[in-house]
Amino acid sequence: MASLEFTRRYAMAHRLLATDSPKCAIPHGHNEFVTVRLDPVGAFRFSDTNSAAPFEAVKQRWHGWIDGHVDHTLHLREDDPLIGFFRANEPQRLSQIMTFPGDPTTEALAACFYLKLSAFVEAERLPFVVREVRIEETPTNTVRIDRENFNPAICGLSPRSWPWRADMSINDF
Ligand SMILES: [Zn+2]
Repeated sequence: MASLEFTRRYAMAHRLLATDSPKCAIPHGHNEFVTVRLDPVGAFRFSDTNSAAPFEAVKQRWHGWIDGHVDHTLHLREDDPLIGFFRANEPQRLSQIMTFPGDPTTEALAACFYLKLSAFVEAERLPFVVREVRIEETPTNTVRIDRENFNPAICGLSPRSWPWRADMSINDF
């Protein structure tokens, strides 16, 4: 089987508080592209269909999550006081807030995407592993997480948090 790669676009906003940058501390948005690469567990072999396992299921689930649950979300650190504002004033919008331990950087987002997609692949029992997640934050700035530089087992994210779950969640509210 051959490797698979697919790309999706979404809009998001975030702000970074620990980073010493006044520019990044004000909520601002990006139109981003996420490209994921899945590698087959086995090697390609000629067969009747000559195509990979039913990856359409996981692709649909992934793009459904990006389109319906990630697009137009606000990314905040778990202790950002803006979360208290939404809880008190606009609780109906909490489902559009994605949370992170620490600043919601593009690196952290790529790691969360990697874990979420891995959870989807596992839930569908697909013979693939997530090889790489790439986020194009701007046309000149891309962040890449791959199996060489990211190890889920020691990434430090609580095993109960949303990226590990094969559901549509983007926070643990
Ligand atoms: Zn930004």
